[in-house]
Amino acid sequence: MSHLNPGATIGVLGSGQLGRMMAQAATRLGYRVACFSPDASPTPCAQVGAREVTGSYDDLDAVAAFAKSVDVVTFEFENVSAAAAEIAAKYAPVRPGGDVLHITQNRLREKSFLQKIGVPTTTFKAVECATDCEGFIYPAILKTAGFGYDGKGQRKVASASEAQAAFRELGEQPCILEALVDFAYEASIVGARGVDGRFVAYPLVRNDHANHILDLTMAPLNDSADNGEASALAKGIFEALGVVGVLCVELFVASDGRLLVNELAPRPHNSGHWSIEGAATSQFEQQVRAVCGLPLGSTALRAPGVAMANLLGDLWPESGEPNWSAVLGVPGVHLHLYGKTQARPGRKMGHLTALAQTPGTAAECVLNTRRLLTL
Ligand code: AMP
Repeated sequence: MSHLNPGATIGVLGSGQLGRMMAQAATRLGYRVACFSPDASPTPCAQVGAREVTGSYDDLDAVAAFAKSVDVVTFEFENVSAAAAEIAAKYAPVRPGGDVLHITQNRLREKSFLQKIGVPTTTFKAVECATDCEGFIYPAILKTAGFGYDGKGQRKVASASEAQAAFRELGEQPCILEALVDFAYEASIVGARGVDGRFVAYPLVRNDHANHILDLTMAPLNDSADNGEASALAKGIFEALGVVGVLCVELFVASDGRLLVNELAPRPHNSGHWSIEGAATSQFEQQVRAVCGLPLGSTALRAPGVAMANLLGDLWPESGEPNWSAVLGVPGVHLHLYGKTQARPGRKMGHLTALAQTPGTAAECVLNTRRLLTL
């Protein structure tokens, strides 16, 4: 198959905000979208017109039937089982492939892979039993090897005995012990690779977190040396994994200036949402183009500075709604809401994006605007 023409159906495993924004980009280009997840209907993805199939990722017959009904399968989060990706691949191309999922859904496999291909990471060690915590460099972070995100399943530890206690608290499941990085800031780079192997990357961006959840992204990070190095690292990772689609490389810019890769997300990423208004082609359109075998789009910025601030459920009052009118009254700020009915603390409900003359002024604009929501 060379490429899929508009009219074809893109199947997404998952149906949250990433699937929703991908579906919005896909339908604009004339594609159809179907989503598969166990979540309550109508999911954020189905609300924008995707055909919705409700099922468990462990129901391999249901996953197979879904794959048969679409022209290509992609996903919007990485905790789909390898078995589900494998069965889907019998009936439709799965992009990126199940082997990419297999590596990136386990922190130990992921960091071992990065080490093998010569990508710098923090020092790490596998922990399978409590005694493995001995003889490591502290302070450190103990993380469960599987199923962790937004800081879940991890503990900062100051000594081997603290690490052993944390290992027990985490249920004695396989873990990874990582030396604590003294970082100047966190950053990420989103890239895309086509069926033909062509690679494009957005600029390196700076990410600020609050309570382990992304709070603010500023683009671009105005350091061309770091940007060049990050882009080269990302290209190497894409090629070694054979990724077709979008992937985000999350990094630490260490206080000594080194770039250390922390994590890979084999899909569009929260730190790339700014690209919807801020780049010539959004990360979601790029995913559509990549998985359909189309040429990738330009990643050029539409303004010298762009910023994105997340809107978490914490902004919702006990009864009623945040002050949307105040936000919609600010010129040049773009409001995105994901259609989730229940606002829980820490839950990603939407985001704001602003374009400006510098990343700093764009950040000031989204943060000031976000404050208006609770006035
Ligand atoms: P992760 O789940 O690996 O993305 O980690 C969540 C957050 O914890 C990161 O965004 C960092 O703020 C922090 N973190 C994770 N690993 C390390 C590390 N090795 N050194 C310092 N901070 C870390």
